[in-house]
Amino acid sequence: MNALARLRKTSIRASDIAAQYWCEKQMELNYLYGQKITKEIRKGRRIHGDLESETNVPIVLMPTSYADFMYKSVYTSYMALKALSEKKKTREVQVYGKLNGFKVVGKIDQLDAKDNEVIVQEDKTRGSDNIPSDAQILTHKVQVMLYRKMLEDMKEERYARKDFEESYRTSTLSITPEFRRQLESTGVERELMSVSAISDAFFDSVRKLDRISDTLYLRYINQFTGNVIKLHRLKYSDEEMAQMIGFVMQYWNGDREALPVPEEEKWKCNFCAFFGNRCKVWWAQSKLDAG
Ligand code: SF4
Repeated sequence: MNALARLRKTSIRASDIAAQYWCEKQMELNYLYGQKITKEIRKGRRIHGDLESETNVPIVLMPTSYADFMYKSVYTSYMALKALSEKKKTREVQVYGKLNGFKVVGKIDQLDAKDNEVIVQEDKTRGSDNIPSDAQILTHKVQVMLYRKMLEDMKEERYARKDFEESYRTSTLSITPEFRRQLESTGVERELMSVSAISDAFFDSVRKLDRISDTLYLRYINQFTGNVIKLHRLKYSDEEMAQMIGFVMQYWNGDREALPVPEEEKWKCNFCAFFGNRCKVWWAQSKLDAG
């Protein structure tokens, strides 16, 4: 059985793939036993919300069905791309794709339009001004590289509107009358009031984007002060991305079990909620080290 079916998921998140590069076993345990929403996670979400309201028009819609949710998600990203052409900067753009036949979804934190290129940026919040470790940067690098690949795949129609229709059956989805009423009062054009129509408009906007830059940014922000701790610049590489995908897909295909961290990275276990309970891979070893 492949991992997606085992975890009862329908799609892989880009953040899951990034998390595999921290500890694949931890990523899996989070799905099996639930990730606690900590104060830090809540704080991080608030900062992302604050940044989004700086560039994007706030969208107040209350979806009640799957079709409504799907509409809101695509519409929000469509509006975010409009903001990119007007303000040269936008936030929170959903990307969709397929890897080895598995659906993959993600949300890009920020896009900047500069010198006829679109630049992808990922923001990470931290509890202190400490510079992120190489291991943390690697995890975030995988995520931002994947976002860049997914956006380009959509732009170049390697993942096209018809693939999206095939994956999400958008033509069969009908929004609720109450949601339609909300769209009307928001001023959405009548011809865009179906999941199919808004999906067409969104994919069309992605196709018209300028070239997607190979330069990517990771921005680290102190969650208490809002100050930028570090802006890390990196280069996208198709070859490196292909290697990363090859590695993570062995897990999703069910070709191997979730890997724990290797011995030289067992320091990560000290920060893991599953250490000594759900996961004892390095537990005995840690006692020996302490003794
Ligand atoms: S205890 Fe260590 S090896 Fe086990 S899931 Fe957590 S980080 Fe991974």
